[in-house]
Amino acid sequence: MSAQFDVIIIGGGLFGSFTGLFLARAGKRVALIERGFVGGQSSGANFGGLRLQGRSPEQYPLSLMAQRHWEDFETLVGEGCEYDRNGMVYFAHTEAGRERLLTYASQSRACGLEVEIWEDADIRHRMPWLTGNGLLASYSPRCAVANPRISTPAVTRAMVRAGGHVFEQTEVVEIDHHNEMFTIRTANRPPMKAPVLVNAAGGWAGSVSQHFGETTPLFSAGPPQFVTEPMPYVLRPSVYAIEGDLILRQIPRGNFIFAGYPRTLSNEDGQHTFVPPQKTLNGMRAVSRHMPGLRNAEIIRVWSGVEGYLPDMLPVISASETTPGLYHAFGGSGGGFQIAPAVGECLALQICGQTPPVDLSPYSIGRFRSSIKASDKLTKEFDGAHKGQS
Ligand SMILES: Cc1cc2nc3c(=O)[nH]c(=O)nc-3n(C[C@H](O)[C@H](O)[C@H](O)COP(=O)(O)OP(=O)(O)OC[C@H]3O[C@@H](n4cnc5c(N)ncnc54)[C@H](O)[C@@H]3O)c2cc1C
Repeated sequence: MSAQFDVIIIGGGLFGSFTGLFLARAGKRVALIERGFVGGQSSGANFGGLRLQGRSPEQYPLSLMAQRHWEDFETLVGEGCEYDRNGMVYFAHTEAGRERLLTYASQSRACGLEVEIWEDADIRHRMPWLTGNGLLASYSPRCAVANPRISTPAVTRAMVRAGGHVFEQTEVVEIDHHNEMFTIRTANRPPMKAPVLVNAAGGWAGSVSQHFGETTPLFSAGPPQFVTEPMPYVLRPSVYAIEGDLILRQIPRGNFIFAGYPRTLSNEDGQHTFVPPQKTLNGMRAVSRHMPGLRNAEIIRVWSGVEGYLPDMLPVISASETTPGLYHAFGGSGGGFQIAPAVGECLALQICGQTPPVDLSPYSIGRFRSSIKASDKLTKEFDGAHKGQS
């Protein structure tokens, strides 16, 4: 006996869960299949940044659409996610960085983002603990944070309340496509069938797309994350250096969370990204260079995650070009937590035969047929990741 649905989604991260929520609310019978637990991979392990600054300008329509959903998360989902509109300071401490920051600020404004420029004296006044001369910053009050641990489970619970089905601890091991019907075989349940399949398998999505003849240069990596012991609460906004050497926020309980760069390639088995001890030392050095008050902070936890990256650092949000009924949503490339609500809504609209409010052509899977321009970030922010080193 097989169970039949309108849509089956592989992957219970935030891309799959939001797609499932919007589809269930549109009246589709949806099954979400997750190998582990929903939000157990990148979607639950990330830094929690709902960052609008620092995105490639072509991502702004998607990003702003997503931010509206985060701002309205409680109404949309029916429970909270510790959303906090804490603002973001994007600062530059080198000449090249200052130039880039100003260009970037004017591009962001042109895309509809409110940005204030803070000169050196403003920064000293507002953030006296940040060291450095000739600093320049852009401040975006609309950037925010949320708790990744609780966000995805909340979205899948909303999906279930809307009539959707969630199968956790269920690994998809085989996919057939015959007579316009997908048959999904899992390790532990009867087969499931649907005319529509969504590939939202995160860092593992490449094998699903490849199964249907759509090869992408997806690779898995993760930025090391660190959390300190609780300290006096002094830092409300998230703080990012445009040079990439500082990404920091403090939660109201007092712990500082920061990311260490460059990112590290996932293990060969693709199931884990280790944080080499040297990265913890390097991360602490970078943080104490900018914020000496943290020099003696104790790190109490270190982690990373398995995140799918594409060389242009843009996701795939796309109908398949080989297989009718197949859709892809993967390759968050380090920024997928923020855009996930818009990814889910746009894909759900597309599946329902409606036109999404955002042009999805930059995110097509077909873009990999011709050579694409690798993002500057790819070479700067990875340990030779795409060259296969760690
Ligand atoms: C350490 C770290 C920090 C980050 N910080 C930020 C940030 O601050 N802001 C931001 O916007 N983004 C951030 N990101 C990126 C963001 O977390 C991801 O882009 C986003 O969560 C991707 O969601 P996803 O649903 O595509 O993938 P995932 O959350 O990885 O979900 C994919 C799911 O598919 C499941 N799966 C795979 N294969 C199968 C199978 N065969 N059968 C069943 N299930 C399967 C997996 O178990 C997994 O749960 C960060 C990522 C990491 C790793």
